[in-house]
Amino acid sequence: MTGNLAKAAKVVHCSARRSRVFFIKCVWQYCVNGKECAEKMELALNRFSMPAIRAIFAPMQILDGTAVAAHIKAQIKEEAAAMKASGGKTPHLAAVLVGNDPASEAYVGSKVRTCEELGFGSTLIRLEASITEGELLEVVKKLNADPEVNGILVQLPLPKHISDDIIINNIDPKKDVDGFHPISQGKMLLGQPGFLPATPYGILLMLEHYNIDTTGKHCVVIGRSNIVGTPMTVLMSRNSNPGNATVTICHSKTTNLKEMVLSADIIIAAIGRPRFVTADMVKEGAIVIDVGINRIDDPTRKSGSRLVGDVDFDNVAPKCSYITPVPKGVGPMTICGLMKNTLLAAKQA
Ligand code: NDP
Repeated sequence: MTGNLAKAAKVVHCSARRSRVFFIKCVWQYCVNGKECAEKMELALNRFSMPAIRAIFAPMQILDGTAVAAHIKAQIKEEAAAMKASGGKTPHLAAVLVGNDPASEAYVGSKVRTCEELGFGSTLIRLEASITEGELLEVVKKLNADPEVNGILVQLPLPKHISDDIIINNIDPKKDVDGFHPISQGKMLLGQPGFLPATPYGILLMLEHYNIDTTGKHCVVIGRSNIVGTPMTVLMSRNSNPGNATVTICHSKTTNLKEMVLSADIIIAAIGRPRFVTADMVKEGAIVIDVGINRIDDPTRKSGSRLVGDVDFDNVAPKCSYITPVPKGVGPMTICGLMKNTLLAAKQA
């Protein structure tokens, strides 16, 4: 034990302050709590890495998107009210919904309700799925020209006969609160201030809220979409915290996916496949961010279905230091990212 403690002291000396504080608490517990804790301590020292020690001593923590979002929304609401009181603008979001896909209806509905909750203005424009690309472009151009509108979001996916890229490229970059326009993405890549894509932004806000140190960690992002996976890799590797991680991006052509994911300190799953990440792919003490939203059949539910993520939550959670649930994890944080961008757009208008 003494030898192990000496080794531990050496590692702890090189670790981040929070890890050191945590380790000292563990030693203290060991001293006062006796045998059970001594056994845990022995196990921890044998495994000998901070995440492993944390996993043994500290229970897994759920990253509660609903609670964090409530906290952030209260701040946004206060800031918007102060802006209005000092003669500034009331942030106004225009949401465009094409067709009547139930999931898109639900997402847009919740964004509009959040605007009301925060004292923002909002406009919901519903369009038939049969609308042409040209007609939709006209709607976007009108919103670009409307001085009352600070933020525009066109809910994706659009019907197949309309190009997402053409529509997004025609949104005024000053109103691109979803952060999908090439100018927003380019600024993000270059580390310049601008609108961050709403979901990755929400994930950063969550990591920040829980004070999770990502510096030097190996972060594996599964999925390379323009709206989640790819921007996530850029943000996790940038020179700030959250960030400063060593990032690996995986996709459907990755041949050694399991090996990659097993080596991750942080896993960000944005795949769109129910419970794809299983316990045998996750190392002990990992931080798991589940972006996926998948509807699966569930005859025990009145609705006959329920939402699950891209991670097999029940079996993966016991191995993690932190994990987001689905629902009530990343989803509410995406809305926070969108609302923070809308507030920023109004400030800059
Ligand atoms: P996309 O379909 O655009 O991208 C999915 C990515 O996953 C692709 O890069 C694809 O690889 C990769 N992938 C698919 N199958 C595999 C596989 N077997 N192994 C490894 N990689 C694979 O999805 P999005 O990024 O738009 O969304 C991902 C998930 O996140 C969805 O469930 C979506 O509903 C959810 N989502 C949730 C949000 C929230 O607020 N919580 C917001 C946005 C999305 P390849 O490129 O090679 O095809």
